[in-house]
Amino acid sequence: MLLKICEVGNPVLRKVAQPLTSEEIQSDAMQNLVGHMRETMRDGPGVGLAAPQIGESLRIVVIEDIASYQQGLSKAHLSETQRVPVDFHIIINPVIELLSPSDISFYEGCLSIPRLMAKVPRSGSVRVTCLDEHAEPRVIMAEGWYARILQHEIDHLEGRLYTDLMQSETLTTIESYQRNIMKSTLSSQEGSSDKSVFLRRSQPTGASPKNNRRQGRGL
Ligand SMILES: [Zn+2]
Repeated sequence: MLLKICEVGNPVLRKVAQPLTSEEIQSDAMQNLVGHMRETMRDGPGVGLAAPQIGESLRIVVIEDIASYQQGLSKAHLSETQRVPVDFHIIINPVIELLSPSDISFYEGCLSIPRLMAKVPRSGSVRVTCLDEHAEPRVIMAEGWYARILQHEIDHLEGRLYTDLMQSETLTTIESYQRNIMKSTLSSQEGSSDKSVFLRRSQPTGASPKNNRRQGRGL
């Protein structure tokens, strides 16, 4: 079942989300919710979704950055952003530790902030302790884009949005980004094929909605 995504201005996005007990995690209701979150993230399309984004103030995140989302990206960009495929997984009650300074900036978007994106400084390396969907403890060591996704999603659980952290002068519509920024940041050799230097859905000139949907940029 697809869930409605809450947009910026909805108070649920500013609340500190509640942790879950082991019993709650293993309940049918929660297992159903996580399944709906996965379906909603894939429909976005997104590479991450936090429960507050679908109106549930709970400390649950789903993440998936499959290889097909990255097919339209240049090797240079994938290398620069350290973006590699990440299988679907569920993160509950996470605690995040930044292992390096928050000094790496790339453009981000968010499914809850339609049409906009901005550069956000993030740490390139994080450690997350959490529970999985069976309430089993997990430790995640992440670098690069995966570390960025984790920081963005766990921020949602604290009621924080990327606009709180962004370099405000870089705020742009996706359309303006396509027109004014993306072309100048790509080499002439790869510029025409690299349609997504960002995380959320966009509408590149000449690209079909079907192609856009495959690239999974929303968070
Ligand atoms: Zn988001």
